[in-house]
Amino acid sequence: MPGMSDDIRGQADGQAIPRYAGLTTFARLPRREDVPRCDVAVVGIPFDSGVTYRPGARFGPSHIRQASRLLRPYNPQLKVSPFANQQVVDAGDLVANPFDISAAVAEIEAQATELIEAGARLVTLGGDHTIAYPLLRAHHRRYGPVALVHFDAHLDTWDTYFDAPVTHGTPFRRAAEEGLFVPGHSAHVGIRGSLYTPDDLVEDAGFGFTVVHCAEFERRSTDEVIAQLRAQIGDRPLYVSVDIDVLDPAHAPATGTPEAGGMTSRELLAIVRGFDGLDLVGADVVEVSPAYDHAEITGVAAANLAYEFISLLARRAAS
Ligand code: MN
Ligand code: MN
Repeated sequence: MPGMSDDIRGQADGQAIPRYAGLTTFARLPRREDVPRCDVAVVGIPFDSGVTYRPGARFGPSHIRQASRLLRPYNPQLKVSPFANQQVVDAGDLVANPFDISAAVAEIEAQATELIEAGARLVTLGGDHTIAYPLLRAHHRRYGPVALVHFDAHLDTWDTYFDAPVTHGTPFRRAAEEGLFVPGHSAHVGIRGSLYTPDDLVEDAGFGFTVVHCAEFERRSTDEVIAQLRAQIGDRPLYVSVDIDVLDPAHAPATGTPEAGGMTSRELLAIVRGFDGLDLVGADVVEVSPAYDHAEITGVAAANLAYEFISLLARRAAS
């Protein structure tokens, strides 16, 4: 592979082994234990005990890995070979207790912290959105409060659900209470769908998120939205959390709480690429629930998103 450093191992050679063959790792990359170094860790969190509607996101990581087999070694949009100048590995799945959400949150935080302290930047495959809370805690330990860009149909800043404080509908309220992100420099993008009361939006505004409602894409270009987000993020450490339900169900049918009128995968990929040059410190793609998928539509969208995040990290590593 041209431009490949000697000490970096990339994907299994698609010209020698067909991409549908062999054991499944993300993008047919080496496992963590196969290589001495790790700059970017793709890691799964098969946890879905925080869902409020359709379950099944515990099977998301393995489904996204399977759908990632077609990813090739050069990204023409970002003009980078994402696996050539940084060691990207599949770090497998974190262990999270399926019967005790508090225990799972502590386990996820501890294991993510271990990977981050070993020098890796994480691209995490969920799992339901609960996992963003311990992931933000782990990133906060290393980077302090982050600029948080949250793509989702939903605000995920509700207080409790059936009295439970930690669910997939509450991670960013818990994160706000702990000061894990920077108010005024964080955003929700793609918000839509029904709410409980108008106060949901009023309360959310108190946490310091700017909201780009999905309906705005009717009249605003992706370039304009990118410019707004870049101005807000500035040179702060950036964490991006993508709930796949930000996409229209036509682009991502396999998710826990689907809402009509969503983004296209083209719009979402364009905005993510628009973060080129920013200090991305971590990202997650959550809420893929494979039992509801058809023809890997949702899996392919999630795999390509992870690929764009790895590409952004490679661009940053090269600069
Ligand atoms: Mn959602
Ligand atoms: Mn969510």
